[in-house]
Amino acid sequence: MAQLVQVLVKTPAHSQIAGSLSYLSEQILSPGTLVRVPLGQRETTGLVWEDDSGASASQPAAEKLRPIGQAFNMLPPLSRQWLKLVGFAANYYQRSIGELALAALPQQLRELSPAQLLRRLKRQETQHPASQGSVQEKPPALTTEQSSALAQIEAGLGPFLLFGATGSGKTEVYLQCVERLLEREPQAQALVLVPEINLTPQLESRFSARFGAHKVVSFHSGLTHPQRLKNWLAAHQGSARIVLGTRMAVFTSMPSLRFIVVDEEHDPSYKQQEGARYSARDLAIYRGHIEGAKVILGSATPSLESWYHSRPQQEGGRYQKLFMPSRVGDGGQPPLVRFVDMNHQPKNSVFSPPLLAAIQARVERGEQCLILLNRRGYAPVLHCTDCAWKSECPHCSAFRVFHKVDRSLRCHHCGFTERVPRTCPACGNPDIRPLGRGTEKLEEHLNELLGQVLRPDGTPVCVARIDADTTRHKGTLESQMARMHAGEIDVLVGTQMIAKGHDFRNITLVAAVNVDNALFSSDFRASERLFSLLLQAAGRSGRDAGISKNSEMWVQTFYPSHPLFEALKKHDFPLFAFQLLKERQQASLPPFSFQALVRAEARTQETAQDFLLAAGELGAGSALALGVTIYPAVPMSVQRIANIERAQMLIESPSRTALQRFLLGWHTMLHDLRQGPRGKGLVRWAVDVDPLVI
Ligand SMILES: [Zn+2]
Ligand SMILES: [Zn+2]
Repeated sequence: MAQLVQVLVKTPAHSQIAGSLSYLSEQILSPGTLVRVPLGQRETTGLVWEDDSGASASQPAAEKLRPIGQAFNMLPPLSRQWLKLVGFAANYYQRSIGELALAALPQQLRELSPAQLLRRLKRQETQHPASQGSVQEKPPALTTEQSSALAQIEAGLGPFLLFGATGSGKTEVYLQCVERLLEREPQAQALVLVPEINLTPQLESRFSARFGAHKVVSFHSGLTHPQRLKNWLAAHQGSARIVLGTRMAVFTSMPSLRFIVVDEEHDPSYKQQEGARYSARDLAIYRGHIEGAKVILGSATPSLESWYHSRPQQEGGRYQKLFMPSRVGDGGQPPLVRFVDMNHQPKNSVFSPPLLAAIQARVERGEQCLILLNRRGYAPVLHCTDCAWKSECPHCSAFRVFHKVDRSLRCHHCGFTERVPRTCPACGNPDIRPLGRGTEKLEEHLNELLGQVLRPDGTPVCVARIDADTTRHKGTLESQMARMHAGEIDVLVGTQMIAKGHDFRNITLVAAVNVDNALFSSDFRASERLFSLLLQAAGRSGRDAGISKNSEMWVQTFYPSHPLFEALKKHDFPLFAFQLLKERQQASLPPFSFQALVRAEARTQETAQDFLLAAGELGAGSALALGVTIYPAVPMSVQRIANIERAQMLIESPSRTALQRFLLGWHTMLHDLRQGPRGKGLVRWAVDVDPLVI
């Protein structure tokens, strides 16, 4: 007797098939089993879903039901917890479950037939004899701070926020946690997430040295399809005990997951910026909860959200905070922070004379410098060149964005719009312009300025640059890093990329030269990111005990008394977080409110905005009932890309539950709206829950 089974298939983002499809099966299939199913004229791989949830609204009549094809019986089904994870992620981030679940599996797994997969598995078995002996490195002795953190993790349930300074040895704590876990429970698995692909080889070699390479697999965008499948199978079948990877790895099938680390948890790259816009950090917390796995978030500059969640329990905190303030091995001396007040430097100078002199002195002593360019896409805010006026929004604690197209100033929070004034509203100066200038020429300029400087051996100075442009070719980043380590490069110029993770021993000066635009950004998270970037960059300086007492961080700014810099001078993240949380609370911004953005793209700005306007009208009633605010639609900061106009609308509520309930009901209306006359001319639309950039 044939059974009715629900199967998820990969569907386009906004197709009508939101849930699962019904098929007939002769055998009883448990949820999580992969099967081949007919879909239209073709056959595709699907996933058997729970009977009762996510059933499609358009259930075909019984006589139209089609039988499923072959099942992948050679693989254990995906666990109930895994199905719960993808179900939650799809609902929370407003995507179809089929799209999200199937995209979370390796592409090759979806393409191979059961027979092909069986052959692949057999081949893998012969290639990898189970007993792969490898010499395992002995763990080093821990510092008092590390031991205390480890003991608290062992004793507590978590989630934990490991607040450890750069160089305080967080990775060693992760390693020893995993080691103890595997001693207790040899079948257990651990997941370690890192923000960037560049950081995985370094970490992989440390874990492999400790546990043996056969126990460790990694996931990142640099893998080929066969490598990805092989690693996925090792994790799914349990032979890999440790999975390392970037954000997508949060969805790896791991049947015995007991421990999750999110390293550098504040890093924006944990948030997916297209398709299903999930936060891997937030999903890691959820996954830990449903799997019964301990979760550790680690950072020297935690996100304000995580910091807020780790306030004392009696004040409602949910995370346990662990402190590791000292650096390992160098007497704990953080670099001295110096500020150059650019108001007292020659007009229009990019590099101030005192900074240049300091760089020159380093080069002549044979030491290295790191010059940090802050080039993240900050939306332009206008300022007056004579007085302190900036294009603040009168209604919000945000700066309005300068839109060149129609010379307007718009608030991306409340939508308040005005034409750009002819003269400064405060002092009448006609010279008002965007904050922050182009940075492309900085390296060239620095080369000219340092052209005559010689190294101790009499050879000329070597200036090199690392950023997204120079490292597009595979291996360029590694070779530049190797040259830096070898001491061939004296001055390394780069974007945030160089501030992360790399352990250069001979750097005694780190300088940030163009940071002011982030202090007055339209994006309320910009100052949080800047502080984190500067503190991370400062951590690159003086890693070697012998030279750490000379190490300095220089910041050039027109606003040296800004509170952010006061906290930076003291290397005091808690002080900075305290100030910023107070501001956020007063302005009801996250983490004191919850947000979602709806984005629309069309040939004209009017079409895009009209879609959002109509969407707002449809949602107005339930928004009012639930206590959700819908703000007016505005053009996005980057208003046009490849001749497509982009607009966005902010949705906000003090309650996460209310926001979720609102979005759930509203989403169907938006699908219908898209099909109707007001959706005509729309290219695409999407919802971004907990957006990182507004
Ligand atoms: Zn002015
Ligand atoms: Zn406003």
